[in-house]
Amino acid sequence: MSLNEQLSPNNSAQRTTPLEHTRNIGIVAHIDAGKTTATERILYYSGVVHKMGEVHDGNAVTDWMEQERERGITITSAAISCRWKPSEGPYEGIEHQINIIDTPGHVDFTAEVERSLRVLDGAVGVFTSVEGVQPQSETVWRQMDKYKVPRIAFINKMDRAGSDFLAAISSLREKLGANAHALCLPIGAEENFKGIIDLVKLKAYLYDDDDESGMTFKVTDVPEDQVEQVNEYREKLIEAISDFDDDVAMKYLEGEDLTENEIKLGIRKATLSLKFTGVIPGSAFKNKGVQTLLDAIIDYLPNPLDLPPAQGQKEDGEPTEAIPTDNAKPVGLAFKLMTDPYVGKLVFFRNYQGTLKKGSSLYNPRTRKSERVSRLMIMKADDREDIEEAYAGDICALIGVKNVVTGDTLCDRDLDIRLEPPTFPEPVISMSIEPKTKADQEKMSTGLQRLSEEDPTFSVTSDAETGQTIIAGMGELHLEIIRDRLFREFKVEADAGRPQIAYRETIQGQSEGEGKFIRQSGGRGQYGHAIINLEPNEKGKGVETVSEIVGGSIPREYIKPTLDGILEAANNGVVAGYPVIDFKVRLIDGSFHDVDSSEMAFKMAGIFAFKEAMKKATPVLLEPIMKVEVATPDEYQGELMGDLNRRRGQIQGMETKGTVCNIQALVPLESMFGYSTDMRSLSSGRANFSMEPSHFEQVPKSLLQEIVEKSSRAPART
Ligand code: GDP
Repeated sequence: MSLNEQLSPNNSAQRTTPLEHTRNIGIVAHIDAGKTTATERILYYSGVVHKMGEVHDGNAVTDWMEQERERGITITSAAISCRWKPSEGPYEGIEHQINIIDTPGHVDFTAEVERSLRVLDGAVGVFTSVEGVQPQSETVWRQMDKYKVPRIAFINKMDRAGSDFLAAISSLREKLGANAHALCLPIGAEENFKGIIDLVKLKAYLYDDDDESGMTFKVTDVPEDQVEQVNEYREKLIEAISDFDDDVAMKYLEGEDLTENEIKLGIRKATLSLKFTGVIPGSAFKNKGVQTLLDAIIDYLPNPLDLPPAQGQKEDGEPTEAIPTDNAKPVGLAFKLMTDPYVGKLVFFRNYQGTLKKGSSLYNPRTRKSERVSRLMIMKADDREDIEEAYAGDICALIGVKNVVTGDTLCDRDLDIRLEPPTFPEPVISMSIEPKTKADQEKMSTGLQRLSEEDPTFSVTSDAETGQTIIAGMGELHLEIIRDRLFREFKVEADAGRPQIAYRETIQGQSEGEGKFIRQSGGRGQYGHAIINLEPNEKGKGVETVSEIVGGSIPREYIKPTLDGILEAANNGVVAGYPVIDFKVRLIDGSFHDVDSSEMAFKMAGIFAFKEAMKKATPVLLEPIMKVEVATPDEYQGELMGDLNRRRGQIQGMETKGTVCNIQALVPLESMFGYSTDMRSLSSGRANFSMEPSHFEQVPKSLLQEIVEKSSRAPART
């Protein structure tokens, strides 16, 4: 479809905030760095929340779910809108809409991070001034590199003992490889953290300690004793941005003075290039630096027009993109599902193109069905507001759309575009689950089904042999939370079996497979026949199925059932019955019978064709490999490294800071069971560790047989 056809000229969009003045941002951090507190303060200053809730009381507005409150961690990503009018700089006096997409800090919830990164345009990384970059912030930072998210950094907790702003910047440079530069310097630190100096304006903001809201501050000249330091860091900043802005470079080289706005626009350009990170010190808890952070979000983070349009595909696979204009038919991505006690299913939606009107219908290319959007809302902290229209670049919640899973594109019926969905990692742990009382079986299935629609890294299958329900996810905590939600939201108490490793299978070669399902004895016959080509897909690209049927060798209505059969067969691979990943199937030929062909017969043909092709395509078993980090007093380092080696671990690096040694290793999950006990006994209880899924690797031949024999999923051998 051409651009003109996508445009709908009669549309009389009436937006109040121009798209240039919208910021869709995420706040990402290691757990406990202060993301919740910072988000809350942002909402407070932008007038949405008039009373500050402390995280300690579990009152913060972004912590939605009950159990999040209890655990004190944010695991779901809600979108919250607020407004901010910078008091200076290039956007002075212009009211902006900021949509904050909440992202979790715990790596057991990578899917949450991925899906939110997919729909946000810029991000604030919150770090602490004491610890600097911590392992999980490293993971999230790398994910942001992948999604090309421009970002700024907030060095929080400047009031804490041991805080060191410049050391935190060094850690951003060393650990994240970020080209990090101070935009402001702190005045004092620890209990003497009094304010900040703006390196662009060359002014100091001294907070009045008697006013805890942080609203009262004095603007003064740079304190005498910091003039030299300020000049040094301002020079570094301008030098850094002159790499990205020719006007700044010229003036800088000629030794000419730059205006405040010239520098700010230079910082903006540098940030948008993804090769520069501006850093601001502060204390969310003590309300210092948060308003400066809000200004920086507006000044430096992108608006939806600054970024390349979202990419997608048409039904026939031809690439296309969503155009960020209101005068077009709508296209957007469902990035989060939530069940709201008052309004039912909420679908969080980033509208990439066009104007979406309340009451209109949206088409889902995956299900090929349309559903009516009965209400449109924007979420405002603890409040929600009904809106009539959502414009290009907006983030809103849809009500009325039921048949949807996270990552689905929803668009106008005439368009049939699929936006690139976020990529989600494969689950690494599985366990069987059964309700405590048999009568709850159905309720449990419904609950698990609903939860898997919400969370693409959580899957539910049933064991073909034992009939048990198997749930799989990103870690034990993840599955524990699912069980908890089953109890709270669906009132089902369930017992879980021992955690097992979620192996995967893939293929290494290319092959052809033929499947026939032909029955002619008695009554109506069955006739389905399909030929497929199977080949490996790029790692992490998942499963792709395409139909290359031309000339009707398989009638149109039987193509989807055949592809469905292939996908069903891929749930149980031929090596040990585990799901098959990263392959591409092309349906190339087949035949049909005028009377005997049916959807079921073609589905069976798809199943048979896949099984045959997979056997011939050098199938292999894959196991999850974990990235493990152990921190230990250095006297135990030798013992612990030896132990990791015995666990088939590969040491990736080692770093000693003072007397603490940090070991990084890649270790198969299979050999990590019971690790914490062994690690404690080897280190007299003094070491600790963290781990997160890294990737999948082929299981060594020596272990393959044992795993296959133990697997209850293994297909019966003939
Ligand atoms: P999150 O896990 O990243 O969301 O972090 P929280 O916002 O929940 O903060 C973790 C803890 O650090 C809470 O007890 C906060 O009160 C505390 N905290 C947050 N910001 C600051 C700060 O600037 N200074 C100090 N001293 N504590 C803070």
